Amino acid sequence: MTRIRLTVLALAMSLAASSAGAADKIKVVTTIPDLADMTRNIGGDLVDVTSIATGVEDIHAVPMKPSFAVQLNKADVVVLMGLEMEHAFLPGLLDAARNPKIMRDAPGYIDASAYIIPLDVPQRIDRALGDQHPMGNPHVNLDPVRGKDLARAIADGLSRNYPEHADQFKTNLDAYLAKLDAAIARWEKEAAPLKGKKLVSYHPDMVYFADRFGLKPVGTIELRAGVDPTPSHVAELEDMMRRDKVEIVVREISYPAGLAESVAQSTGAKLVELPVMTGGAPDATDYISFIDHNVRTMLGAVQGGT
Ligand SMILES: [Zn+2]
Repeated sequence: MTRIRLTVLALAMSLAASSAGAADKIKVVTTIPDLADMTRNIGGDLVDVTSIATGVEDIHAVPMKPSFAVQLNKADVVVLMGLEMEHAFLPGLLDAARNPKIMRDAPGYIDASAYIIPLDVPQRIDRALGDQHPMGNPHVNLDPVRGKDLARAIADGLSRNYPEHADQFKTNLDAYLAKLDAAIARWEKEAAPLKGKKLVSYHPDMVYFADRFGLKPVGTIELRAGVDPTPSHVAELEDMMRRDKVEIVVREISYPAGLAESVAQSTGAKLVELPVMTGGAPDATDYISFIDHNVRTMLGAVQGGT
């Protein structure tokens, strides 16, 4: 009797230890915090998630640290935005990590853009010209409706790798989508004053946000994605902005402030500083608060006068 009791106790203790231990969780590495937050919502207690970027970086130039390769070496799955957004760092890190589970085309390589139809797909791809958006615009995370498609692709990717947990992932996904839907209904109401406003941004990363909330992106300070502006480009841009009465200049936080400020000043437009990822502002701690931050910041600029 005592021996059985002891055996049961030992078994219970080992079960408790293993279910509580991070060692048994599905180890997920995501490229950006937006995808990390979605994966935590979908994976719940089953996942242990880390993100490579913190949200303040230029996503096309995230520095490759050896610690990222170590994390990827131990990962069960990697979740990325795709559309070549992580081209600057992810292929190199995956080579260094030597983890067959998460190499491109392996089941553990979860492309969150799988259900996205990208905007701005170029007619001709020429990396030699420095184009950072060869597959179309990858900044999908700025639109919360397309964000739902990112979440669905993550849930499907997790279920493909762990079919035994598919029901749990589906339940968690549905709860998260319901939360997101409620927030989207609120944002669409709040953002009504943004409709029809023209904007220029430093980098072409506002197209999905603009598409959702009815703004019109009419130009960029960069010559094109990843190509620095020339003085003649800036002069032409400013002429166009004065002529077309462009009201907003967006300076994404990883881009230089000086030029965006002078473009705004010389054209009478309002300068708006925005994060382009979750974690890019102190109050943008998860995906919903990130979209909240951007909608409210943009509204503040439009309604603030000047
Ligand atoms: Zn970009």
